[in-house]
Amino acid sequence: MSERETLRAVVVGGGISGLTAARDLVAAGYEVVVLEAADRPGGKIRRDLVGGVSLDVGAEAMVNRRPEGVGLARELGLPVVHPTGATSRIWTRGALRPLPRTLMGAPLDLDQLEASGILSPEGMVRARHRYSGGPPDSDVSVGEVVAEEYGEEVVDRLVEPLLGGVYAGYARGISAQAAMPLLLDLARRGGIVEHASAVPTSDVPVFAGLAGGMGGLVDALAAGLDVRTSTTVRSLERTTRGFRLTTGPVPAQEFLEADLVVLGVPAAPSSRLLADLAPAAATELAAIDYASMTVVTLALPMTGLPPGMEAASGFLVPPIDGRRIKAATFSFAKWDWVREAGGDLALLRTSMGRLGDERTLQCSDDELVAASLGDLREAVGLEAAPVDTHVQRWGGGLPQYAVGHLDRVARIRASVEKVPGLAVCGAAYDGVGIAACIASGHAAAAALTDS
Ligand SMILES: Cc1cc2nc3c(=O)[nH]c(=O)nc-3n(C[C@H](O)[C@H](O)[C@H](O)COP(=O)(O)OP(=O)(O)OC[C@H]3O[C@@H](n4cnc5c(N)ncnc54)[C@H](O)[C@@H]3O)c2cc1C
Repeated sequence: MSERETLRAVVVGGGISGLTAARDLVAAGYEVVVLEAADRPGGKIRRDLVGGVSLDVGAEAMVNRRPEGVGLARELGLPVVHPTGATSRIWTRGALRPLPRTLMGAPLDLDQLEASGILSPEGMVRARHRYSGGPPDSDVSVGEVVAEEYGEEVVDRLVEPLLGGVYAGYARGISAQAAMPLLLDLARRGGIVEHASAVPTSDVPVFAGLAGGMGGLVDALAAGLDVRTSTTVRSLERTTRGFRLTTGPVPAQEFLEADLVVLGVPAAPSSRLLADLAPAAATELAAIDYASMTVVTLALPMTGLPPGMEAASGFLVPPIDGRRIKAATFSFAKWDWVREAGGDLALLRTSMGRLGDERTLQCSDDELVAASLGDLREAVGLEAAPVDTHVQRWGGGLPQYAVGHLDRVARIRASVEKVPGLAVCGAAYDGVGIAACIASGHAAAAALTDS
């Protein structure tokens, strides 16, 4: 047996990033152990029973137009499906309005925007009054780029709800370079609308899912791995051979030796674990903010739905409108498999909470359900009482890519690379979506096996 075959890799964190890295390391011939703090792997991908149906209560879809998510699902033999084609709406200025063509909220067709009624007449005048000195060469927030081109109301009523759905943050704090490089590029070329033809159009569906939910991806990955749940890694030290990881409470600590370590955990635990090994990375990681949110899933009798509700896949809500929910997803209308699994129950969900707003974590389940039902009643006239509800809080759910994020990540990687045998991956670095996290897991494993 060669020396390489006996090497042990430990992956800290059993979310999609860590599990992907672990799978690659197993394929490369390493003995791999995944240490996961929670009682099950998956992190932000998680299923629970609502109305007797096993449903995603965290992430529920993946981008289809990049290969990593759907590619991994197919490798694992999982049935990739696409949303039905029901479209989303914007609930603003007192009505549900169609979503015009945009690049993450930056309008690409001003006539469509006007017809949607999303902007006030004054906001529309400003959006059409095109002027822009172009963004600076340095990084700048998405909100600043869009406000400069179209005015503040486009940021408030379009970019905030769309970007808020992905990052749960605010457009004026999110890096254009990290979150929307194409937008920045078009603005620098002399105008987003003027260069709308450069935005790729395609018949390929934007999103994909899995029949049975995204949780199937976690189950399939974990099935081939040695995942130790309820095991929190408390410290990471260098040894002469490699690393020593400490787990468990102080009175009953356990130790694990490893030749290679991948940290697939969020920024705060990564920062703590790297404090001695890579102090520069630890400091940078500690500066990454996280937004918390809550997902409320409702099971309602299909017969109690207002007519035509299934024509939309849900709606997004701009924070400026002061509602409790920031989005509603009519899962029964968005996914055929949910419609079939629900039978005579309509399954849908709302989400609440943005950066700096921890209220939803502290409210009782009953309050969150009541707030969801109140907004749904006003938005679509839903009056039916749920037969089952589920509340999932996501404290520290989504990292915020602040202006300068790419430079920060470069500094983190430079610091981590100085420690041979160590790599990091996860939503904190190169994209928060599932596909991007899978890519970061692959990259972490490759960095260790190629060296
Ligand atoms: C509500 C919600 C909805 C989302 N919806 C979508 C969506 O529809 N599509 C999409 O593409 N993306 C979505 N995302 C984003 C995406 O799901 C996440 O960014 C991604 O799953 C993060 O994966 P990860 O492996 O990097 O981190 P995580 O999923 O956070 O996994 C990290 C794991 O590390 C563990 N851990 C932490 N500290 C330790 C420690 N000290 N020792 C051991 N283990 C530890 C945690 O318990 C966790 O399981 C959503 C996110 C949220 C919160």
